[in-house]
Amino acid sequence: MEGSSIQNLAYLLASVLFILGIKGLTHPRTAVRGNLTSALAMLLAVVATLAFSHIISWPWIITGLVLGSVIGTVMAVKVPMTGMPQMVAIFNGFGGAASFFVAGAELYRALHTGEATTQPASEAVVQAGLQTQFALATAAAGLIGAVTLLGSFVAYAKLAEFSITLKPKNEGDKPRKIWLSNALLVPGRHVINAALAIICIALFVFVATSDSPQLNYWLLVAVAAILGVMITIPIGGADMPVVIALLNSYSGLAACATGFVINNNVLIIAGSLVGASGLILTAIMCKAMNRSLVNVIFATLGGGSDAPSADDVYAGKVKQTSAEEIAMLFDTAQRVVIVPGYGMAVSQAQHAVRELANLLEERDITVEFGIHPVAGRMPGHMNVLLAEANIDYDKLLEMDVINSTLETVDVCLVIGANDVVNPVAREEGSAISGMPIIDVDKCRTVVVIKRSLSPGFAGIPNPLFAADNCLMFFNDGKKAFTELIEAVKEG
Ligand code: NDP
Repeated sequence: MEGSSIQNLAYLLASVLFILGIKGLTHPRTAVRGNLTSALAMLLAVVATLAFSHIISWPWIITGLVLGSVIGTVMAVKVPMTGMPQMVAIFNGFGGAASFFVAGAELYRALHTGEATTQPASEAVVQAGLQTQFALATAAAGLIGAVTLLGSFVAYAKLAEFSITLKPKNEGDKPRKIWLSNALLVPGRHVINAALAIICIALFVFVATSDSPQLNYWLLVAVAAILGVMITIPIGGADMPVVIALLNSYSGLAACATGFVINNNVLIIAGSLVGASGLILTAIMCKAMNRSLVNVIFATLGGGSDAPSADDVYAGKVKQTSAEEIAMLFDTAQRVVIVPGYGMAVSQAQHAVRELANLLEERDITVEFGIHPVAGRMPGHMNVLLAEANIDYDKLLEMDVINSTLETVDVCLVIGANDVVNPVAREEGSAISGMPIIDVDKCRTVVVIKRSLSPGFAGIPNPLFAADNCLMFFNDGKKAFTELIEAVKEG
């Protein structure tokens, strides 16, 4: 059998494994297997490409492999679990960059040697200009890849909750802090974005049709990168999950376009899979936020500048509690619901949460978990953490299911969740208006476990903390659950 046939067979097998891997990722029970299947598919694709393509010499390949592995290992070891969403954002960006660099290099090669990978070297390439597929795919890889690169870097800064401190204009005034995670509204941004989009379309056409498109290609990359920043920077509040999913999809589409540039079937298939699954995830996230994609991208809700101040919401109304008092609440409880959020990930409290749940179940209390689709900082964040702690999947109830039964819940423990339980989402004009929430305020008693009254990702106060049926247990999530376990055992 010829080398190219073996390579195509290996690509076919890798593609099937990719599809099975993604199928596995759809359920926590099969997710680990799905992940390993996809990793195996990637290994097969890389080995088949390197063994049969003779693209560049082995010393370069090995240098790249070693460098990539060292950087990847250092990042994987150093980045804490709570930094994973940012890392995923950066990886999306690097995927976009790799796509436009490979397409750019291929364009250079085609123009200078006449050897585009999409077709054998021939006079036609040099004289009659680039083949349509090659030209269109190159322009698409440049455009989408560059939007993905800088869009993802902005998403990284928002997820990492970077802030800029502005010096006060007048002496005596306090310095002003601007959180990048909020919606940053550049004046005239719609006009600027429209102008950038028109320039991108014009450059795309030049790249796809001209005989000497190199300068236009890199101009397209530069303008698309600015467009990536401009599109992402106004999105804030609680809409970031949609952006993350969308950028993930873009990175796949850019890889797919590059697959057409270098005529690599497995890259086309893998890129399409990432592009399509990212789009499906975007639709799921939009549904979870009760927003349309157009609404998320163009009708940015404010970061809460008009929202009432924390003092107005909380002053004199917040009631504190202790582990011993909460243990006493369990004495008469029949049904307890635990609602986790980002703070559970920060404090790595999932194992302590499972231990308390087991303890309560031993006392004939029904314990369930209410899972909000955008709780935490990445899709499925809470499911992953609770699965890691071996909590039975059947006890993880989706928002709609748990909401219909909350009135019968005796004690609801909210651990490190804020935006996803904020009742202002039911009102007009806030940064999270319209987002479905877990209606924990409908439970008989709500206990919120967090360290302070600081806001969540959307940056707005939460009137739940001042509600009559709400008690605040100010503590680190893991420490709080450890103290609760002790108190229940002693009680
Ligand atoms: P939030 O970001 O709203 O709130 C998290 C809370 O956790 C904070 O108020 C913080 O309060 C508390 N916390 C932090 N560290 C600890 C700790 N060690 N122990 C106890 N509590 C802690 O989280 P939610 O999960 O409620 O909501 C997720 C938000 O993130 C939404 O706005 C969502 O749109 C957004 N988002 C989600 C993504 C996703 O894909 N899931 C992606 C990007 C953004 P304190 O400091 O007082 O302890």
